Amino acid sequence: MTTSKMTKIEKLTELFRQFPGIGPRQAQRFVYFLLSMRSEDLSELSETIGSLSKEVSQCSSCFRFFPAVENRYKCEICSDTSRDNSLLFIVAKDVDLESVEKSRTYGGLYFVTGGTLPLNEKNPDNKIRLKNLIDRTNTESQNLREIILGFNLNAEGEHTSSYIEEKIGPIAAKKGIKISFLARGLSTGAELEYADSTTLKNALKNRT
Ligand SMILES: [Zn+2]
Repeated sequence: MTTSKMTKIEKLTELFRQFPGIGPRQAQRFVYFLLSMRSEDLSELSETIGSLSKEVSQCSSCFRFFPAVENRYKCEICSDTSRDNSLLFIVAKDVDLESVEKSRTYGGLYFVTGGTLPLNEKNPDNKIRLKNLIDRTNTESQNLREIILGFNLNAEGEHTSSYIEEKIGPIAAKKGIKISFLARGLSTGAELEYADSTTLKNALKNRT
């Protein structure tokens, strides 16, 4: 193997290592898998990745990603006037939102923070979309009655919940918006992304 080829493999391995939950060995396996792919499939994959940012937009209201449509800035959930705009469900990631949507147990609106806060995070306000959330809470119509904090039931999720509660609490109190938390009926450490519909339904129904 030539040195330049090694460099490409190493570079791609490094890129895969930045993916959530991927360690160095798995990253390397991905690279060798790509090398074993048929060239047509590999081209299709690389074209899809290349066009991703052009064909996907980020919602100006909830910040989730959705298939791009010219001159449309809000996703189909935020543009759907039949949804209950008295409820705002705060989740960390797009996959959490998808999981709640799939369970068909919730008909309100969402806000995606883009992540959670590690306990020792030095720059929490840049790590999650706190400013956007504050703006949204400030500018929401009077219809908004409740903000549901839907973070995973682990240390990082709970830390994120209390941080957000502390930051938006005063605005919410002023506007008469209740802040609630998903019920802890589920086992500690439960992740929204993998929760089944019944678990989600109970967590929502018994929120406090
Ligand atoms: Zn949206």
